[in-house]
Amino acid sequence: MAAEKPDAALPVDGAVSPCENFYAYACNPWMKANPSPADQSRWGVMAKIALENQNILKDALEKIAAGNEPATQRIGDFYRACMDETTADEKKAEPIKPILRVINDVQRKEDLGAEIAALHSIGVRVFFGFGSQADYQNAKQDIAVVGQGGLGLPNRDFYLRSGDKDGQIRKDYVAHIGKSFELLGDIPAVAQAKADAVMKIETQLAEQSLSLAQLRDPHLTHHKQPLAELRALAPDFDWASYLLVSGAPSFTSLNISTPEFIKATDRVIQASSLDDVKSYLSWQVVRFFSPLLSKDFVDEDFAFYGKTLNGVPENQPRWKRCVRLTDQALGEDLGQYYVKAAFGPQHKERMLALVKNLRSALDEDIDTLAWMGPTTRKQAHIKLAAILDKIGYPEHWRDYSSLEIKSGDLTGNVGRANRFEAKRELGKIGKPHDRAEWHMTPPTVNAYYNPTENDINFPAGIMQPPIFDMAMDDAVNYGAIGMVIGHEITHGFDNQGRKYDKDGNLADWWTESDAKEFTSRAQCVVDQYGAYKVADDVKINGEATLGENLADNGGVRIALAALHKALKGKKDAKLGGFTADQRFFLGFANVWCSNAREEAKRTLALIDVHSIAEFRVNGVVSNSEAFAKAFNCKPTDPMVRGDKACRVW
Ligand SMILES: [Zn+2]
Repeated sequence: MAAEKPDAALPVDGAVSPCENFYAYACNPWMKANPSPADQSRWGVMAKIALENQNILKDALEKIAAGNEPATQRIGDFYRACMDETTADEKKAEPIKPILRVINDVQRKEDLGAEIAALHSIGVRVFFGFGSQADYQNAKQDIAVVGQGGLGLPNRDFYLRSGDKDGQIRKDYVAHIGKSFELLGDIPAVAQAKADAVMKIETQLAEQSLSLAQLRDPHLTHHKQPLAELRALAPDFDWASYLLVSGAPSFTSLNISTPEFIKATDRVIQASSLDDVKSYLSWQVVRFFSPLLSKDFVDEDFAFYGKTLNGVPENQPRWKRCVRLTDQALGEDLGQYYVKAAFGPQHKERMLALVKNLRSALDEDIDTLAWMGPTTRKQAHIKLAAILDKIGYPEHWRDYSSLEIKSGDLTGNVGRANRFEAKRELGKIGKPHDRAEWHMTPPTVNAYYNPTENDINFPAGIMQPPIFDMAMDDAVNYGAIGMVIGHEITHGFDNQGRKYDKDGNLADWWTESDAKEFTSRAQCVVDQYGAYKVADDVKINGEATLGENLADNGGVRIALAALHKALKGKKDAKLGGFTADQRFFLGFANVWCSNAREEAKRTLALIDVHSIAEFRVNGVVSNSEAFAKAFNCKPTDPMVRGDKACRVW
């Protein structure tokens, strides 16, 4: 980490009142000093930490690739092959030609089952997804799962929304597909016809896809059924060949996560010509591998996914793309180098103490909720006590020894890494669920709560300054990393998490009247955030972002309570001109300070279950009495919702 000098001063914008727009007050100085670099769609405190982490990995990888480090051959060969731009340019589309030839050779629709399985195994996500997950009825066990997928645009909304901007994006997308086929050698008329066929197929899939908000409702995505039901839903699809080629162990029941979508897949394949289906499969192959091919493919891919969808002027330098790719392919090999460089036992120790304080703050908070009866309250305490803390990195590192990485074979390496991952994923079917597994790599600047594991997970990558600053006072740390911890714990009790019990099973532990109270209080949050405007024609999706907004509001509340306990009444002492509570809220806002391009904001509002930065801050503080008190806001100020303030946790 670059040494960020511990400094009691927290810069604010003196021209804005904190009660008028707290995000602007707290973040304007940071935003002015940190414009988005040309290769970023948004640039914030988290992104800056991510860049620091990337630099640490780059350092390690360059030493490894140069052979100066006693590293595994895998990481070095992977990174070196990725960095070899000259070879990638010389090979043009050659690396994917054999894959496209196999698609082209498919003679009958009956053979598509095997071909789709082959594409899935190398990471190309056509039509639907197939994998494993904890059984929601018995989370100690893993089962197979099949569900929606197969779109080239970010989600169903991009195919189905009716605005001008949406229409333009679709036109650009079809043009992009056409140009990609031209790069493969098709004449423009043929490329155009193929692009139209692809769009037609994807639109039909989008029509039967669940929305972002629906995907957050476990009751809509959990349908455990006998395997025969899968055959009944999609009778013309060759499931036997699909399963055989996928390499999945045999099983008798599975979660058919999105049954209507599976039906639609079968229908779409039957209603389309075999040539059109082949165009769709080929497109998804090109789309998936373009970033790894020659410059013309890389540029064409970036022009749509980078520029059009996210407004980014320039592609990232190759080393950043290669670091990310290595992290994706060999994350728990490479992650060990990151941990060595950036995360010590003292980090873990202070983090554990913080987590303990946050847990006990929520424990006490549960007892103060007037709307919750004793029966539900007791269950909530039990669930909270059962949450497992995972901090930093896995106790046992993944064993990649069966993964073959060859020098000079970038696309092959990525395909084999995906095959390794698919095999690992499917190998879990029918086995006990491994609660110790991590679903993020150590350098990741993020954290998560997993409802079926009932655990909170904080990769080493997020426990870095200024979010977790060993040199800063408690107030700022509780506002930043304390809020992140509170956020993840609260997920266990948001509109999704509350539907799972202490063992991670989908089971209702709520009395009917308490569930009703919860729902009406949550509706307040849906309405509040749903009114925030992001772009001319897009507002925050109040339903889809509800879980995250509940976690933000609850997280800040319990982090502040935990801070008060830690300070034991010394909260009025000023530091750098601010009281402890003021520093807490500034520490919180500073986590989210960021610049974002307009295109990226619009896209994010349609695909991200988190609200955009400004509302993550202002949405929370305007619900908080403690905030109004800390900054002496008047009841009529914009940051004071007063009677309209929402509170669940
Ligand atoms: Zn979250």
